Amino acid sequence: MGKALIIGAGGVASVCVHKCCQNPDVFEEICIASRTKSKCDALKAKLEGGKTKISTAQVNADNVDELIALINEFKPDVVINLALPYQDLTIMDACLATKVNYVDTANYEPLDTAKFEYKWQWAYRERFEKAGITALLGSGFDPGVTGVFSAYAMKHEFDEINYIDILDCNAGDHGYPFATNFNPEINIREVSAKGSYIEDGKWVETEPMEIKRVYNFPEIGEKDMYLLHHEELESLALNIKGIKRIRFFMTFGQSYLTHLKCLENVGMTSIEPIEFEGKQIVPLQFLKAVLPDPASLGPRTKGKTNIGCIFIGKKDGKDKTYYLYNVCDHEECYKEVGSQAVSYTTGVPAMIGAAMLLTGKWNKPGVHNIEEFDPDPFMDDLNKFGLPWKESFDPELVD
Ligand code: NDP
Repeated sequence: MGKALIIGAGGVASVCVHKCCQNPDVFEEICIASRTKSKCDALKAKLEGGKTKISTAQVNADNVDELIALINEFKPDVVINLALPYQDLTIMDACLATKVNYVDTANYEPLDTAKFEYKWQWAYRERFEKAGITALLGSGFDPGVTGVFSAYAMKHEFDEINYIDILDCNAGDHGYPFATNFNPEINIREVSAKGSYIEDGKWVETEPMEIKRVYNFPEIGEKDMYLLHHEELESLALNIKGIKRIRFFMTFGQSYLTHLKCLENVGMTSIEPIEFEGKQIVPLQFLKAVLPDPASLGPRTKGKTNIGCIFIGKKDGKDKTYYLYNVCDHEECYKEVGSQAVSYTTGVPAMIGAAMLLTGKWNKPGVHNIEEFDPDPFMDDLNKFGLPWKESFDPELVD
């Protein structure tokens, strides 16, 4: 049915490539392009021989002209951006210049400020609309499936949703004293930033990790979780009508937090460049270089993730609560695609989002967040491609 250009060859891209190959009627041909071509070639070597035709290329996704040349050569129907959030705008520029649809899993962040906001990408709306192409923003798990869950709850379960709590629990154990489950630089920037949530249309800011709750996660048990800022809060508060408050919580173990505090205290998580032996280095980038590569955690990680949303609102004039979630097992993911569940839960929805555009099930020129589309075909594909969802009408609530 179509051709996809996948940019990036890290943990998430690897899962996405596996999943495209499991869906060859939609993904007839893919090109894996990244900074380090050998990683693309290794993925190709692992997966070729099936129905999906695979090619590879080297590209610097910070360079719009290189991207345009690659797109003109491969002529994809969609570009799936699984590089880093810093590359979002250059890849969107290249898609605009070549009139090709765009999908990503994380919103743009400038390299020098850890700030997650959609304003830079939303600024492309009119230009994408005029070009007749669609940019699907945030097609991972969170953002991503959490937005699809919200659209589904709104469509089928509520007349009005007033409260959403997004709960992201990773109960996986990789056996290292400290490691991050996805790109360490992006991960540490996210968790060391101030927390925030939206109440009555306004952002309320907290100190990092200031708000803690304990939640009894289905199929996992009790875990400490902390309120974080997260990008989908911004779009969901606009797109889901009736929202009074929306919050995001993520679980962290004590050992992770103690290590992080220590690294912060000694300046290792800073993104301000420093002079070292005559060279400018960014401490956080140096830290990334000494931490375990997230891709190497796959074979060591045991346990499960549970990510979902608790909705509180009204249906037919009555109060209603509803919890939609997915439970994913690290070892099963590894057995299937050679990656742990954090990459898996992001790479599967990236493939599904691109499939929605390639099949024409979703077709809305402009720049859109995932909850703006019909959730039903996406929810069906989650069940089909390894992320089945579960629901509860009587969940424990977060105070
Ligand atoms: P990795 O660091 O494992 O992979 C990133 C890949 O992008 C690497 O292959 C890297 O190349 C490549 N890359 C980086 N810069 C460039 C560039 N300038 N040009 C070309 N290629 C480049 O990250 P992950 O796979 O863990 O994460 C990928 C994306 O997914 C990130 O944006 C992350 O924020 C997002 N994410 C989203 C989640 C969600 O639920 N929505 C959850 C987890 C992640 P090289 O191999 O040379 O380093």
